[in-house]
Amino acid sequence: MNYTKALDNKIFEIISKASQELNLESYVIGGFVRDFLLQRDFKKDIDIVAVGSGIDLALKVSELLPHKPKVQVFKNYGTAMLRYKEIDIEFVGARKESYTQDSRNPVVENGTLEDDQNRRDFTINALAFSLNPNNYGQLIDPFNGLTDLENKLIKTPLNPDITYSDDPLRMMRAIRFATQLNFTIEEKSLQAIADNKDRIKIISGERIVDELNKILETPKPSIGFLHLYKTGLLDIILPELTALNNVEEIEGHTHKNNFYHTLEVVDNICPNTDDVWLRWAALLHDIGKAPTKRFNKKQGWTFHGHEFLGGKMVKKIFERLHMPLNQKMKFVQKMVMLSSRPIVLSEDIVTDSAVRRLVFDAGEDVDNLMTLCEADITTKNPTKFKKYHNNFDIVRRKIIEVEERDHVRQFQPPISGEEIMVLFNLQPSREIGVLKEAVKEAILEGEIPNEYQAAYNFVLAKAEKMGLKRVIE
Ligand code: ATP
Repeated sequence: MNYTKALDNKIFEIISKASQELNLESYVIGGFVRDFLLQRDFKKDIDIVAVGSGIDLALKVSELLPHKPKVQVFKNYGTAMLRYKEIDIEFVGARKESYTQDSRNPVVENGTLEDDQNRRDFTINALAFSLNPNNYGQLIDPFNGLTDLENKLIKTPLNPDITYSDDPLRMMRAIRFATQLNFTIEEKSLQAIADNKDRIKIISGERIVDELNKILETPKPSIGFLHLYKTGLLDIILPELTALNNVEEIEGHTHKNNFYHTLEVVDNICPNTDDVWLRWAALLHDIGKAPTKRFNKKQGWTFHGHEFLGGKMVKKIFERLHMPLNQKMKFVQKMVMLSSRPIVLSEDIVTDSAVRRLVFDAGEDVDNLMTLCEADITTKNPTKFKKYHNNFDIVRRKIIEVEERDHVRQFQPPISGEEIMVLFNLQPSREIGVLKEAVKEAILEGEIPNEYQAAYNFVLAKAEKMGLKRVIE
C-alpha cells in the first residue's frame, strides 16, 4: 500500500529533493507515521532518518526552503533540527547502536535503515514512509508494526529483555504509550520490564517525570500507574504511593485502600482540569496517610495530621525527582495540605465563617481546591455521594457570596501596621502583630466587615483593652 497522501505537506517533497541532490536515501520515521496510521492529531514534530549524514541533509533542506531557516546542529549526537511553519523537523543519520551496562547512551556507528529500525523502541515506532523517488510513500514495516497498531499492542522489535535493559527509559515509554493510546503491553514486554525494573535507577529524575507528566496528561492515568505498580517500577519511583496499597483490619475495623482510591481520584479529576499540577496534587493528596495511620479503640483508624505531613513529603518527592521547586511545588503542597478542608466543612452545616477561612487560606487556588475535593468523593454509597456533592454545591455558592462581600481571596489588611504605629505612637513591636491578627480574625469570623472604618473602630476598642493610649484624635 502506498501512503503518498500522508506526505501532502510540501516539506516532504523538499526533503526528498534535497536527499536526491545529496544522493542519499531518506525516510519519515516514528511518531509521525504511527500517528498518521492511527488517525491521531498531528503533533508538529517530524523525525527524518537519512542513510548518510542527517546534518548534511538538514543543511541542504534549509538551502532549498524560501526563508532558509536556521539549522540547529547537535554534533555530538549527529542530529540537526529546523523549524518549518511551526513544525519541528529532526534529522538523524541512520545508525547502529551498541550499549554498555552503566549508561543509556549507546556507542553509535553509521548503519542502514534496517539497523536504524532495529534500534527503535517499539514496533509501532519503527514504521517509516519512504521519501525516495523509486518508492515514494511506501510503508517500510520490517516488524509488522502495522498489525500491532491494529491489534493495539506495544511490542519491542528485538528481544524485550535487551531492549529495556539497554535503555531503561523505554520501560517508562512503553507504559506511557500504553496509557496514551489505550494499548496493551505484550506479556513478554511486561515481564521484561518487571525483570529489569531496577535499571530505572540509571535514568534521571527529569526524564522519569517527563513520562509521568505525559501519563498524568491522559484521560485515564490509572492505566499507566497500574502498570507502573504491577511491574514494580512505582515502588522505586514513588514508594510513598505504593505504601498506601493495603487494607488492615483490627477488631472488625478496616480502612479504605488509599492507593486505589488515589488512582480513582486522579481519573476523576481529568475531565475537569488540563493542569498537570492539579493532577499531581490528586496523585499525592493522601501520601501522608501511610506514615500517620494509627488505630485506637474509640475512633478506629485515624490519619491525624496526614495533610500537613503529606505537604512536607511533597517537597521531598519534588527534590528527589528533580522537579521544579518553584511555585508549582508550592501549589501542589498547598493543595495537599488543604485537601481535607472542604470535605470536613461539607459534612457539617456550612457556616459563612468556615467558608471565609477556606477562601482566605486557599486564596486564588480555592477553585482548584474545590475541583480536587470533588474528585476525592469516591464513595460507592449513592446517598453519601449525593449528599457530599450537594454540600459542595452549597460551599461553592457560599464561596461566591462571601467573596463578593468580604474580598478575602487576596486578603489585604484594611488597616495597615504603619497606621496602627502612628495611632498609638508605637515602635515596631509585638502589639502591632497582635492587633493586625485580631483584625484579620474578626473579619474571618464575620464580626466586622472587611472595611477600613470598621477595622479602625475595632482596633481602637481592642487597643484600649490592651492598655494602649491613642496619641492622635
Ligand atoms: P511523542 O512525541 O508522542 O513522544 P514520538 O514517537 O514522536 O512520540 P519521540 O520521543 O519524539 O516520540 O521519538 C521519536 C522516535 O524516536 C520514536 O518514535 C522512536 O522511534 C524513537 N525513539 C525515541 N526514544 C527512543 C528510545 N528511548 N529508544 C528507542 N527509540 C526511541
